[in-house]
Amino acid sequence: MAERLDGTVALVTGASSGIGAVSGRELARHGAAVALVARRKDRLEQLAAEITADGGRALVLAHDVTDQAQAVDAVERTVAELGRLDTVVNNAGVMLLGPIVGAPTQEWDRMVSLNLQGLLYVAHAALPHLLAAADTGPRRVADLVNISSVAGRRAMANAGVYNLTKFGVNAFTESLRQEVTARHVRVSVVEPGAVDTELTDHLREEIREASARRFAGVEKLVADDIADAVAYIVTRPRRVAVNEMLIRPTGQVG
Ligand code: NDP
Repeated sequence: MAERLDGTVALVTGASSGIGAVSGRELARHGAAVALVARRKDRLEQLAAEITADGGRALVLAHDVTDQAQAVDAVERTVAELGRLDTVVNNAGVMLLGPIVGAPTQEWDRMVSLNLQGLLYVAHAALPHLLAAADTGPRRVADLVNISSVAGRRAMANAGVYNLTKFGVNAFTESLRQEVTARHVRVSVVEPGAVDTELTDHLREEIREASARRFAGVEKLVADDIADAVAYIVTRPRRVAVNEMLIRPTGQVG
């Protein structure tokens, strides 16, 4: 049975579009006050207005989590303004596919700095608050959900550095899970297959076309499908830790 999140606070990174935006709305619907973190302030404000109109509470934090000071500030302002921190959805990410040979290495830097470093900065800053929430919070349990990918379990040509970052997210998640689970901080990983979001907008044109050909005829997931999984994980009773969820479109083979 899903539990309510009333009295708790959730922080979602990458909340200005796609999976993060719907996850923010979904956690608010379950009763959490939500801190919405991403760089596009106008998008965050629009989402916050929707959440508020539905009777929820939202805090807009226009921050770039690849900058450690901003990642720390996002966490600290959440605690200062919303009072605590029980749930973190480490979702912000970028997927810049393409061959390794001759790759523009600034694309690698962007993936490593967001998918790995940004996620690590947020996790590091949040953990003391999550441990405190698990000790004394309304639910006596806290959640850190990292959004990885099918690409975190299966390497493919033309996805090398994206694979590197998402395999890294999976490894970090499992190591941290072992470190803190006995203290009732649940650390989970969600691994989506193809989801219809803005993620592919950032691909070089020829790569975007190849990606579209790969998924031609496949009905992609929608962001709600993954937000639903996030909400499932964090609304379990204290005794239940959903460690990992791999979710592909039914038509996606690999
Ligand atoms: P979107 O491109 O829609 O969302 C990415 C989010 O990350 C945006 O809100 C963006 O906001 C935010 N972001 C980017 N850079 C930064 C930054 N420096 N600091 C803070 N936020 C940032 O894509 P998705 O919703 O699809 O992606 C969400 C996650 O899901 C990613 O980790 C992705 O790897 C993963 N995923 C997605 C799949 C898919 O098929 N869509 C499949 C498997 C995994 P802004 O630009 O405003 O900062």
